Amino acid sequence: MKFIIGNWKMNGTQRDKTDLISAISQTNTDNKVILCLPFTLLCGLDNKIEIGAQNISEHENGAFTGDISAQMVTDTGAKYVLVGHSDRRLYHHETNKIVRSKAEMAIRHNLIPIICIGETLAEHESGKTEKVINDMLLECLPSNGEFIIAYEPCWAIGTGKTPTDKQIEAIHKIIFEKLSVHGFASTPILYGGSVNSNNAAAISSVPHVDGLLVGGASLKSETFIPIINATK
Ligand code: PEP
Repeated sequence: MKFIIGNWKMNGTQRDKTDLISAISQTNTDNKVILCLPFTLLCGLDNKIEIGAQNISEHENGAFTGDISAQMVTDTGAKYVLVGHSDRRLYHHETNKIVRSKAEMAIRHNLIPIICIGETLAEHESGKTEKVINDMLLECLPSNGEFIIAYEPCWAIGTGKTPTDKQIEAIHKIIFEKLSVHGFASTPILYGGSVNSNNAAAISSVPHVDGLLVGGASLKSETFIPIINATK
Protein backbone atom coordinates (compact mmCIF):
# COMPACT_ATOMS: atom_id res chain seq x y z
CA MET A 1 0.00 0.00 0.00
CA LYS A 2 1.34 3.41 -1.01
CA PHE A 3 -0.06 6.86 -0.26
CA ILE A 4 -1.23 8.91 -3.22
CA ILE A 5 -2.08 12.43 -2.15
CA GLY A 6 -3.57 14.95 -4.55
CA ASN A 7 -2.95 18.64 -3.90
CA TRP A 8 -5.52 20.71 -5.76
CA LYS A 9 -3.90 24.03 -4.77
CA MET A 10 -6.28 26.95 -5.63
CA ASN A 11 -8.34 24.98 -8.14
CA GLY A 12 -11.65 23.17 -8.30
CA THR A 13 -15.40 23.46 -7.84
CA GLN A 14 -17.94 21.23 -6.04
CA ARG A 15 -18.67 19.58 -9.40
CA ASP A 16 -14.97 18.82 -10.03
CA LYS A 17 -14.74 17.25 -6.57
CA THR A 18 -17.82 15.07 -7.09
CA ASP A 19 -16.58 13.92 -10.50
CA LEU A 20 -13.10 12.98 -9.30
CA ILE A 21 -14.30 11.24 -6.13
CA SER A 22 -16.74 9.22 -8.18
CA ALA A 23 -13.93 8.14 -10.56
CA ILE A 24 -11.62 7.26 -7.65
CA SER A 25 -14.39 5.24 -5.97
CA GLN A 26 -14.70 3.09 -9.09
CA THR A 27 -10.94 2.40 -9.16
CA ASN A 28 -9.81 -0.87 -7.69
CA THR A 29 -6.64 -0.07 -5.77
CA ASP A 30 -4.83 -1.06 -2.59
CA ASN A 31 -3.31 2.41 -2.40
CA LYS A 32 -4.49 5.01 0.10
CA VAL A 33 -5.79 7.97 -1.87
CA ILE A 34 -6.19 11.32 -0.12
CA LEU A 35 -7.29 14.62 -1.67
CA CYS A 36 -6.03 17.88 -0.18
CA LEU A 37 -8.71 20.33 -1.27
CA PRO A 38 -9.33 24.08 -0.95
CA PHE A 39 -11.24 24.99 2.24
CA THR A 40 -14.44 25.61 0.22
CA LEU A 41 -14.56 21.93 -0.77
CA LEU A 42 -13.90 20.32 2.60
CA CYS A 43 -17.52 19.98 3.68
CA GLY A 44 -19.93 17.36 2.35
CA LEU A 45 -17.27 14.67 2.44
CA ASP A 46 -17.63 11.33 0.74
CA ASN A 47 -16.63 8.56 3.12
CA LYS A 48 -15.08 6.56 0.27
CA ILE A 49 -12.07 8.83 0.20
CA GLU A 50 -10.02 10.65 2.80
CA ILE A 51 -9.70 14.39 2.64
CA GLY A 52 -7.15 16.94 3.77
CA ALA A 53 -6.78 20.71 3.84
CA GLN A 54 -3.85 22.62 2.37
CA ASN A 55 -3.11 24.94 5.27
CA ILE A 56 -4.17 25.88 8.80
CA SER A 57 -3.52 28.85 11.03
CA GLU A 58 -0.74 28.56 13.60
CA HIS A 59 -3.19 30.13 16.08
CA GLU A 60 -5.96 28.34 17.99
CA ASN A 61 -8.69 30.93 17.22
CA GLY A 62 -9.40 34.65 17.53
CA ALA A 63 -8.95 37.83 15.53
CA PHE A 64 -7.26 36.40 12.45
CA THR A 65 -9.70 37.46 9.73
CA GLY A 66 -9.76 35.14 6.75
CA ASP A 67 -7.76 32.37 8.40
CA ILE A 68 -8.95 28.83 9.14
CA SER A 69 -8.01 26.98 12.32
CA ALA A 70 -7.05 23.33 12.80
CA GLN A 71 -10.18 22.86 14.90
CA MET A 72 -12.35 24.12 12.02
CA VAL A 73 -10.69 21.71 9.60
CA THR A 74 -11.18 18.78 11.99
CA ASP A 75 -14.82 19.84 12.30
CA THR A 76 -15.34 19.27 8.53
CA GLY A 77 -14.32 15.63 8.91
CA ALA A 78 -10.97 16.10 7.16
CA LYS A 79 -8.13 13.98 8.55
CA TYR A 80 -5.02 15.53 7.00
CA VAL A 81 -3.47 18.92 6.32
CA LEU A 82 -0.51 19.99 4.22
CA VAL A 83 1.92 22.20 6.12
CA GLY A 84 4.97 23.99 4.74
CA HIS A 85 4.15 23.53 1.07
CA SER A 86 6.67 25.52 -0.99
CA ASP A 87 3.85 27.80 -2.22
CA ARG A 88 3.20 28.77 1.42
CA ARG A 89 6.91 29.21 2.14
CA LEU A 90 7.37 31.35 -1.00
CA TYR A 91 4.21 33.46 -1.15
CA HIS A 92 3.36 33.64 2.57
CA HIS A 93 6.90 33.64 3.96
CA GLU A 94 6.33 30.61 6.18
CA THR A 95 9.50 29.69 8.04
CA ASN A 96 10.46 26.30 9.46
CA LYS A 97 9.42 27.62 12.90
CA ILE A 98 5.92 28.41 11.63
CA VAL A 99 5.72 25.07 9.85
CA ARG A 100 6.57 23.28 13.07
CA SER A 101 3.94 25.28 15.02
CA LYS A 102 1.33 24.37 12.40
CA ALA A 103 2.32 20.68 12.46
CA GLU A 104 2.01 20.61 16.26
CA MET A 105 -1.30 22.50 16.10
CA ALA A 106 -2.62 19.96 13.57
CA ILE A 107 -1.64 17.03 15.81
CA ARG A 108 -3.30 18.67 18.83
CA HIS A 109 -6.53 18.76 16.83
CA ASN A 110 -6.34 15.16 15.58
CA LEU A 111 -5.18 16.02 12.08
CA ILE A 112 -2.23 14.26 10.45
CA PRO A 113 0.10 16.95 9.08
CA ILE A 114 1.84 16.26 5.77
CA ILE A 115 5.03 18.24 6.31
CA CYS A 116 6.53 19.42 3.01
CA ILE A 117 10.27 19.95 2.70
CA GLY A 118 12.50 20.52 -0.29
CA GLU A 119 15.37 22.56 -1.66
CA THR A 120 15.17 25.47 -4.12
CA LEU A 121 16.82 25.34 -7.53
CA ALA A 122 19.70 27.55 -6.31
CA GLU A 123 20.28 25.25 -3.32
CA HIS A 124 20.12 22.21 -5.60
CA GLU A 125 22.61 23.66 -8.06
CA SER A 126 25.05 24.70 -5.35
CA GLY A 127 25.11 21.22 -3.76
CA LYS A 128 23.26 22.27 -0.59
CA THR A 129 20.34 19.82 -0.82
CA GLU A 130 21.47 17.52 1.97
CA LYS A 131 22.10 20.38 4.40
CA VAL A 132 18.79 22.08 3.57
CA ILE A 133 16.87 18.84 4.10
CA ASN A 134 18.62 18.11 7.40
CA ASP A 135 17.98 21.66 8.65
CA MET A 136 14.33 21.56 7.60
CA LEU A 137 13.79 18.26 9.38
CA LEU A 138 15.53 19.47 12.52
CA GLU A 139 13.45 22.66 12.61
CA CYS A 140 10.06 21.40 11.35
CA LEU A 141 9.61 18.05 13.10
CA PRO A 142 6.93 17.99 15.80
CA SER A 143 8.09 16.63 19.16
CA ASN A 144 5.64 13.72 18.98
CA GLY A 145 2.53 12.49 17.21
CA GLU A 146 1.68 11.04 13.82
CA PHE A 147 2.75 12.85 10.67
CA ILE A 148 3.86 12.33 7.06
CA ILE A 149 6.88 13.84 5.32
CA ALA A 150 6.67 14.90 1.67
CA TYR A 151 9.98 15.56 -0.07
CA GLU A 152 9.24 18.05 -2.84
CA PRO A 153 12.22 19.69 -4.53
CA CYS A 154 10.92 23.21 -5.35
CA TRP A 155 12.52 23.06 -8.81
CA ALA A 156 10.49 19.95 -9.65
CA ILE A 157 7.08 21.36 -8.70
CA GLY A 158 5.01 22.17 -11.76
CA THR A 159 8.07 22.22 -14.04
CA GLY A 160 7.98 18.78 -15.67
CA LYS A 161 11.48 18.16 -14.25
CA THR A 162 12.18 15.44 -11.70
CA PRO A 163 15.31 14.28 -9.91
CA THR A 164 16.71 10.93 -11.07
CA ASP A 165 15.55 7.83 -9.20
CA LYS A 166 19.04 7.65 -7.65
CA GLN A 167 18.79 11.24 -6.40
CA ILE A 168 15.35 10.56 -4.91
CA GLU A 169 16.67 7.41 -3.26
CA ALA A 170 19.62 9.28 -1.73
CA ILE A 171 17.46 12.04 -0.23
CA HIS A 172 14.77 9.65 1.02
CA LYS A 173 17.49 7.57 2.72
CA ILE A 174 18.78 10.69 4.49
CA ILE A 175 15.23 11.57 5.59
CA PHE A 176 14.57 8.00 6.77
CA GLU A 177 17.78 7.92 8.81
CA LYS A 178 17.08 11.29 10.40
CA LEU A 179 13.51 10.29 11.28
CA SER A 180 14.77 6.99 12.73
CA VAL A 181 17.22 8.80 15.01
CA HIS A 182 14.29 10.82 16.39
CA GLY A 183 12.11 7.74 16.93
CA PHE A 184 9.93 8.26 13.83
CA ALA A 185 11.18 5.33 11.72
CA SER A 186 7.68 4.32 10.64
CA THR A 187 6.75 7.80 9.34
CA PRO A 188 5.74 7.62 5.66
CA ILE A 189 8.02 9.57 3.30
CA LEU A 190 6.40 10.70 0.05
CA TYR A 191 7.93 12.17 -3.10
CA GLY A 192 6.28 15.13 -4.88
CA GLY A 193 7.15 17.21 -7.94
CA SER A 194 5.97 16.64 -11.55
CA VAL A 195 4.65 13.14 -10.91
CA ASN A 196 2.68 11.79 -13.88
CA SER A 197 1.45 8.44 -15.18
CA ASN A 198 4.76 7.83 -16.97
CA ASN A 199 7.04 8.23 -13.95
CA ALA A 200 4.74 7.15 -11.07
CA ALA A 201 5.61 3.44 -11.25
CA ALA A 202 9.37 4.02 -11.23
CA ILE A 203 9.38 6.72 -8.54
CA SER A 204 7.02 4.82 -6.24
CA SER A 205 9.34 1.78 -6.45
CA VAL A 206 12.39 3.70 -5.19
CA PRO A 207 13.49 2.49 -1.73
CA HIS A 208 12.03 4.59 1.12
CA VAL A 209 9.37 6.13 -1.16
CA ASP A 210 6.09 5.36 0.59
CA GLY A 211 3.91 7.26 -1.82
CA LEU A 212 3.45 10.29 -4.04
CA LEU A 213 2.21 13.87 -3.63
CA VAL A 214 0.64 14.93 -6.91
CA GLY A 215 -0.26 18.51 -7.83
CA GLY A 216 -1.42 19.39 -11.36
CA ALA A 217 -2.07 15.80 -12.41
CA SER A 218 -4.48 15.25 -9.48
CA LEU A 219 -7.07 17.68 -10.85
CA LYS A 220 -8.61 15.44 -13.49
CA SER A 221 -9.49 11.76 -13.46
CA GLU A 222 -7.82 11.30 -16.88
CA THR A 223 -4.44 12.14 -15.36
CA PHE A 224 -4.93 11.07 -11.72
CA ILE A 225 -6.46 7.59 -12.09
CA PRO A 226 -3.54 6.33 -14.26
CA ILE A 227 -1.14 7.47 -11.51
CA ILE A 228 -3.16 5.56 -8.89
CA ASN A 229 -3.11 2.49 -11.11
CA ALA A 230 0.61 2.77 -11.92
CA THR A 231 1.66 3.09 -8.28
CA LYS A 232 2.51 -0.27 -6.76
C1 PEP B 1 2.68 20.20 -5.54
O1 PEP B 1 2.28 21.35 -5.78
O2 PEP B 1 2.69 19.75 -4.39
C2 PEP B 1 3.10 19.36 -6.66
C3 PEP B 1 3.69 18.23 -6.42
O3 PEP B 1 2.85 19.86 -7.93
P1 PEP B 1 3.08 19.13 -9.33
O4 PEP B 1 2.73 17.68 -9.20
O5 PEP B 1 2.18 19.86 -10.27
O6 PEP B 1 4.54 19.31 -9.67
